[in-house]
Parts: sequence; C-alpha cells; structure tokens
Amino acid sequence: MARRRSDVRYTALVTGANRGIGFEVCRRLGRRGLHVVLTGRDARGMDEAVARLRAEEIDIEGAVFDVAREGAAGALAARLRARDVRVDVLVNNAGIYPPGAVLDTDPGTFREVMETNFFGALWTCRAFVPAMLDAGYGRVVNVSSGSGSFGEGLDGPAAYCVSKAALDALTVKLASESRGDVKVNAVCPGWVRTRMGGPGARRSVEKGAETIVWLATLPADGPNGGFFRDRKRIPW
Ligand code: NAP
Repeated sequence: MARRRSDVRYTALVTGANRGIGFEVCRRLGRRGLHVVLTGRDARGMDEAVARLRAEEIDIEGAVFDVAREGAAGALAARLRARDVRVDVLVNNAGIYPPGAVLDTDPGTFREVMETNFFGALWTCRAFVPAMLDAGYGRVVNVSSGSGSFGEGLDGPAAYCVSKAALDALTVKLASESRGDVKVNAVCPGWVRTRMGGPGARRSVEKGAETIVWLATLPADGPNGGFFRDRKRIPW
C-alpha cells in the first residue's frame, strides 16, 4: 500500500483516462495502492472505464472533466475538496492530435489543441497544485511528446507540436515555483498503440504508462523539472 504518512493515503487524479494510456495509468496507480480519480469528458465512457477497474478491485472513483472547458478544473477541485479528497498526484494526460501545418490548420482546430493539450494542463495545475504546496507533497506528471521537443526536431502536426512544447515550458516554470516535496515533470510515453498512436505503433499501453507511473510515484530524492522517456532524460 503506497502511503506518504502512516495515516494518509495518496490520491491520484488522471485526465483523459477513459481509454488509452490514461486508463492504463489509472490501473497501475490503483494496483500500487493509490486511490484513483479517473476523469473523462464523456460520462458514459468514464463510467464504463471506472466499472472495468472496479471489477479488478481497484479503489477508484470517476469524475466528468473536460479539460478544455473553462472553469471545469476549478469546479472539480472544489467538489473534491468539499469531500475532503486531496489530490496528491496529478497526471495531465488528456490530449488530441489533429493533422495540419502551421499555415493550413484552421484557427478553431489550432485553438482546440492549445485549449486541450496546453491550457487544459495549465488550469488543472492551477486548480490542484496550490493544495500540494500547502501540504508539502505532490507529484505532477505532464504527458508530453517527443513532438514537443526542440532537441528531437518538433516532428509532427503543427498545433500538436506547439502545444506540447508549451506544455514542456509550463513544466519547467511550474517546477521552478515548487517547494517542499512537490515535483513537476514531463514525459514522452513513446509511440504507443492507442487510438492516437494507431495500430502500427511499436509500444503497448503498458509500456507507455510505465515512465508516467514512475514519475507519479517518485521518492523524495527524485528529479524535479525534467523531461523523460523510459526513465531517461530527453532534451527539451
Ligand atoms: P488516446 O487514446 O487518443 O486518448 C486520449 C484521451 O484524451 C482520451 O481519453 C480522450 O477522451 C481524452 N481527451 C481528449 N480531449 C479531452 C478533453 N478536452 N478533456 C478530457 N479528456 C480529453 O491517446 P493516448 O495515446 O492515450 O494519449 C495520451 C497522452 O499521451 C496524450 O497527451 C498524447 O499526446 C500523449 N502521447 C501519446 C503518444 C502515442 O503514441 N499514443 C505519443 C506521445 C504522446 P475521449 O475518449 O472523450 O476522446
């Protein structure tokens, strides 16, 4: 059982977790003994995902959470706080990957990608990280991509690359503002067989979830403000 203090148990909240990598992260954190808040933007998909993990005896609850909807992160944090549920571990996983170049992606799509992949994580951090700082403990994992890495060539659709590069910058800035045992890191899960990654991807969701779970459960002497794939640092 993962415990921070003898009487307190970790709670992890994962966004975009009704399927794909986020779902697997919920399963793995639950198996490690954390209480899991599985969130998804669609109530039905979220309920089905929660039921699947409950059947595996994972201690889990669900919440409807569209990260791109203004005010949704604050409202969710308030609802959880009212029930004395404090989020110790936050995994910003929700993401979209529409195609398009800088000059031809339509403005609405560009905005939607930024609202989901970047602002969604930003507002979720702002809703949950202050309580982590107050408590002196927290783990934030921003699920980014090699497509957001200047060092790896920003390879991929324009809006997606820009949004993930911005998420990486957010990671560095927020990590620099953290204190106590609060750690903020970014991760590239690799090319993973999900709806986003497609059937030809080399990695299983289990492998894609691995480094995310490692960062979500880092010990006190673990890294802060880094970008990782397979537990190794990669360039921003
Ligand atoms: P996926 O199977 O397409 O799942 C994406 C998840 O994000 C779904 O649960 C989706 O919900 C959710 N989502 C999208 N917009 C949302 C919103 N506004 N609010 C809440 N949830 C929302 O993709 P995945 O492969 O698991 O990707 C997970 C993360 O890994 C993403 O951040 C992605 O960029 C990153 N990543 C993936 C790969 C890869 O090869 N798969 C590589 C690098 C990075 P719905 O079911 O409602 O659409």
